[in-house]
Amino acid sequence: MPNMDVVTPTKLDLNAKFKFRCHKGIRCFTKCCSNIEIFLMPYDILRLKNRLKISSGHFLSKYTYMKIDDKSSHPHVMLKMSDDKERKCPFVTPEGCTIYTDRPAGCRYYPIGQGTLKVAGKDGPEDEEFYFFINEPHCLGLEENKSWTIESWRIDQEVQLYDEMNRDWKAIQLRRNLLGQPEPDEKKLQQFYMASYDMDNFRKFIFDSRFLEVFDLKEEEIEKIRTDEIELMKFGFRYIKYVMMLDQSLKIKDSVLQERAKKKD
Ligand code: SF4
Ligand code: SF4
Repeated sequence: MPNMDVVTPTKLDLNAKFKFRCHKGIRCFTKCCSNIEIFLMPYDILRLKNRLKISSGHFLSKYTYMKIDDKSSHPHVMLKMSDDKERKCPFVTPEGCTIYTDRPAGCRYYPIGQGTLKVAGKDGPEDEEFYFFINEPHCLGLEENKSWTIESWRIDQEVQLYDEMNRDWKAIQLRRNLLGQPEPDEKKLQQFYMASYDMDNFRKFIFDSRFLEVFDLKEEEIEKIRTDEIELMKFGFRYIKYVMMLDQSLKIKDSVLQERAKKKD
């Protein structure tokens, strides 16, 4: 369970060891699920909206708020806590997390935090994932006697799948930081938001607009994104790269380019 307020920013690798056990009988049970900032990534949102059996638009408006990230200038999505004094997570009850098997990556990692850096590699800059401990005095699980490495913790918490699913999206944040590009305009930010988080509207945008008349996509690609939400999410990352002008991840059809050229003449 996450809390990003108090961190010890020492960079750790997968072999780092720690002791931790969280269980229902512990005195601090669910204390970590209030008054926190939980950052949601695209795959978190997909899992949560499907768990709750609601559309992505409904999920975003009911359970999240948006903030612009200082470094990338991209819209980031945060889980909305309750409005009362306790500021509880909407999914916590005295019995624990009601969406436990679909909880976000940040909750799975806790008491570990995870970040990604750009480092120099032999073929140019590479993304390096690192870890750090989140030491919070209220978390009594840190006093328990169960040993882990970060690697065994990741396996236990099934968080590799989340990292795998969000990796390309995280790379987009870092590439923008690195390139130092100008701030995206309002229209680009809306497209970024939709293609990152609002899969049901992104699907409508592709299939109910002129999108497929304009962009050159193979039939099998179209079929995949029509029938498989994970493929749609991954296609969203391609679309973001195109919109943000990070690379030519999509191509406009020659016929459309010719038509546009004719109109200019
Ligand atoms: S042990 Fe830590 S993670 Fe578990 S309920 Fe207590 S505060 Fe939360
Ligand atoms: S999603 Fe679940 S684990 Fe995460 S803060 Fe909310 S109740 Fe706690």
